[in-house]
Amino acid sequence: YRAGLARESHLPAVTLDGKRLSLMANIELVEEVVSVRDNGADGIGLFRTEFLYLDLKRFPTEEELFEKYKELVELVTPRCVTIRTLDINGDKVLPYSDTIEEANPALGMRAVRFCLSRPEIFMTQIKAILRAAAFGNIKLLIPMISCVEEIIEVKKIIDDAVWALEEEEKIFNSDIPLGIMIEVPSAVIMAEELGHYVDFFSIGTNDLIQYSMAIDRRNRQVSHLNQPLNPAVIRLIRMIMDAAHRTGVKVVMCGEMAGDPVNLPVLMGLGLKELSMNPGSIPVVKQMIRKINSTDTKNLVDEILKMGKVADITDLVKTRYKDIL
Ligand code: PEP
Ligand code: MG
Repeated sequence: YRAGLARESHLPAVTLDGKRLSLMANIELVEEVVSVRDNGADGIGLFRTEFLYLDLKRFPTEEELFEKYKELVELVTPRCVTIRTLDINGDKVLPYSDTIEEANPALGMRAVRFCLSRPEIFMTQIKAILRAAAFGNIKLLIPMISCVEEIIEVKKIIDDAVWALEEEEKIFNSDIPLGIMIEVPSAVIMAEELGHYVDFFSIGTNDLIQYSMAIDRRNRQVSHLNQPLNPAVIRLIRMIMDAAHRTGVKVVMCGEMAGDPVNLPVLMGLGLKELSMNPGSIPVVKQMIRKINSTDTKNLVDEILKMGKVADITDLVKTRYKDIL
């Protein structure tokens, strides 16, 4: 069975009625590129960059970051790599950074908030990414955006990075797509306005569920409320899709929700065409896509959007897709 899956994993992710989806991989280490290829990913939809920072006893230099990103992009080219800037201080803390201890790190100086408070560190990473972009197909992704002001500030720092690289006469490419993670409820509410500043949204359901359901994503006591098919979560995704549609912004989903086959009909019905997941989930999800009719999923979502209970939604999906789940 696994062998059959592996063979099929290199077939395109096309539905019964001919709609093509793009399945990409989430990775944290350059070494994972092998499994990206083996599982037939269309590219890297999320490269989490924390590990390079966690490995060292100090902040990495621009040169160190550049070498790693270049290595990765050269391995993956001509497919694309979405590099997400540092998402630190949520669950992962840098021992050498001088951040003040926080009672609620998930609600604190995390990710882009930390980066904007330490622009020199942020700029170092952005310069390295823009330099690597001269060697392949890179997209730049910013985590944890919660308001318009933040993306404006980020864009100023990108401009500063471009200036600095020009000054230093380094080879780089700044003509790359810029995206933000949509993983904070305020970003969903403001998605249309945020869409004016960026090229794509990447939906981070791990945090979006955490922040919208008010559950710590690592707290087992409340894990029963960590529900991707909760009607509130589905409606939030619907709002993001509508806003993206109105502003002409592309959407990809890179949270865990994207890698579980049971969620697939719902995501397709909501209009998602790009999903990024753990490389190992790609073959199963792809196999399922090849057995689904996309028009059916639209009807499914119409029904689901009238429902109020997660169990009813789950039952409906499982009953309707019992033959292929
Ligand atoms: C997410 O929040 O869904 C996500 C993909 O990012 P991370 O898991 O790294 O927070
Ligand atoms: Mg996240």
